[in-house]
Amino acid sequence: MRPVLLTLALLLSFFSLAPLVATAQLNLGQTDRWMKGALSAMERSDYQTANSIFRNLIDSGLPLPEEMPYYFSETLFQLGQFDNSQNFVNKYLELTGFTGQNYDYAVLLKEKLKGPLAQIIACELCDRRGYRYTPCSLCGGNKQVEQACAYCRANGVVGCSRCGASGMIKKINVFNIIEFFECERCAGNGRLSCPTCDGSGKEVSACKTCEGSGKIASKTLCSHEKHVHTGIGNK
Ligand SMILES: [Zn+2]
Ligand SMILES: [Zn+2]
Ligand SMILES: [Zn+2]
Ligand SMILES: [Zn+2]
Repeated sequence: MRPVLLTLALLLSFFSLAPLVATAQLNLGQTDRWMKGALSAMERSDYQTANSIFRNLIDSGLPLPEEMPYYFSETLFQLGQFDNSQNFVNKYLELTGFTGQNYDYAVLLKEKLKGPLAQIIACELCDRRGYRYTPCSLCGGNKQVEQACAYCRANGVVGCSRCGASGMIKKINVFNIIEFFECERCAGNGRLSCPTCDGSGKEVSACKTCEGSGKIASKTLCSHEKHVHTGIGNK
């Protein structure tokens, strides 16, 4: 009877710690399961599955296994996400130095990445991550957008400031008599063509969506060839 009681007492004294320990073990188990699942997906060349498992692992916020960034970078390489692959292989080498189990493979992968990354930089059809550009949907590739002139509220004209929009200038002559003259600046109209929009009522500014480039990166990886239609426009 006594040992049982002792165990119970011990259990009770650690009661407050128990949930924490349990959670940590559960998480470790989950990480292990994910890593195993991802590695076996890689073995059967199912890199899409490996990719989504690795992303679950990252999104979970759990501590990442030391070798994970290497395996993820290899997966990304296979999926043609070269820029991202480079980020993770660099991260791996930064974290593990020469001691990583996959050090040699990581160095090899960096070598393999050189060609594809150089192609991305040389290509004008894709962004720096290798994603194909499409014309900006807001400006239709015009780089600019037209909107109502804010200065004249799209009227095209503004009140003349010299005559207070009256068209007349009031002067008091030497005999103390008030005389009115036509305002020279607005030729008596009281109004002037808007200096901001030159009377058009419209203002043209660089498109903010594409930052004036006329194009935005799609979610489609670039083939670096002009006339190949590779499902561009995937959303
Ligand atoms: Zn005037
Ligand atoms: Zn205006
Ligand atoms: Zn635009
Ligand atoms: Zn390209």
